[in-house]
Amino acid sequence: MKFDTKVVRAGIEPDPATGSIVPPIYETATYVLDEIGKDKGFDYTRSANPTRQVLEDNLAAIEGGKYAIAFASGMAAVDACMKLLNAGDHTVSSDDVYGGVSRHFNNVLARYGMSFSYVNSSQPEAVRQAIRPETRMLWIETPTNPLLKVTDLEAMAGIAKERGLYFCVDSTFATPVFLRPLEYGADVVMHSTTKYLSGHNQLIGGVVITNREDIYDEMKFIQKTIGAVPSPFDCWLTLLGVKTLHLRMQRHAESAQRVAEYLENHPKVAQVTYPGLSSHPQHEIAKAQMSGFSGMISFELKGGLLAGKTLMNSVELCGLAESLGAVETMITHPATMTHVDVPAQERQARGLTDGLVRLSVGIEDVDDIVADLEQALAKA
Ligand code: PLP
Repeated sequence: MKFDTKVVRAGIEPDPATGSIVPPIYETATYVLDEIGKDKGFDYTRSANPTRQVLEDNLAAIEGGKYAIAFASGMAAVDACMKLLNAGDHTVSSDDVYGGVSRHFNNVLARYGMSFSYVNSSQPEAVRQAIRPETRMLWIETPTNPLLKVTDLEAMAGIAKERGLYFCVDSTFATPVFLRPLEYGADVVMHSTTKYLSGHNQLIGGVVITNREDIYDEMKFIQKTIGAVPSPFDCWLTLLGVKTLHLRMQRHAESAQRVAEYLENHPKVAQVTYPGLSSHPQHEIAKAQMSGFSGMISFELKGGLLAGKTLMNSVELCGLAESLGAVETMITHPATMTHVDVPAQERQARGLTDGLVRLSVGIEDVDDIVADLEQALAKA
């Protein structure tokens, strides 16, 4: 199957009992056994559920992996990845990760004896230098949230292989439409399915995909043991969302390119970051490893924080909201919203200024998005 066909069809067969073209929602806790030791592949929904199984098969196929394990949130998926590690283990992480990820690393996992170093992973040498004898994992987000830094995954795979590290990639911003990190040597790909994969602001979810059987076995064990599983209904909603992923991503990317170019030419805008602009510091890497640049933009106004706040309070079509990756255009102030728990000093060190504005470009008519920004910029 070609990629677009996989998005719509992979792992999804008509229901054998009724022919239903849409997989049923198996909203059940348990399954009746035929006799002791003989079930139909399911015994308890924390361990496995038929609707979740369809979603996992579909997402594994799209990402080009053998195995997928679905979780109740992107953060539960991140947590499951980190449970591959033990107390005493060290992780080298991209510096500009989603604020909830660094909060989990610093405020929860550090209490269990794990340690973390944050480096600009766009610079492979910085990653190499941060590795210690007790390092066990590279945690790479690309493009990053919110500064859209892009990491060369082939270079990271080389380092991970040389040093025997787990190589995990949070690919939430790119989606498998534009980037498939397993093809570049990643051991694990993680997504917040809350974002582009489900795509309609309708649920919270996460997934981990791998080709390694040992990692799959460990993750299945973690999924079953901890129980941070998505409801069958959320799995079903995600499946419906995924069916149009390729079409939505094309539109998100086309519109984001147009909005980024508009912002870059606006006299009140100081700086625009979008991997599809030739001014982006890693534009060449992005072009080489991604087939499109997705729908996220960050920018800064010449008037700094005050002007940024006025803009965000003046938009009408764009929703002032925490999330991203859905059909509606959303605007965010990372310093007080998504990244509020990153200490101010760390935010400054990675370039996340108080005036930064993040835009998730939706699939409305792009003229309307630009017109809304135009009227808000006039006030800023
Ligand atoms: N990774 C990235 C890049 C994110 O942007 C987010 C949420 O914004 C997460 C992980 C966490 O996902 P969730 O909110 O589904 O728990």
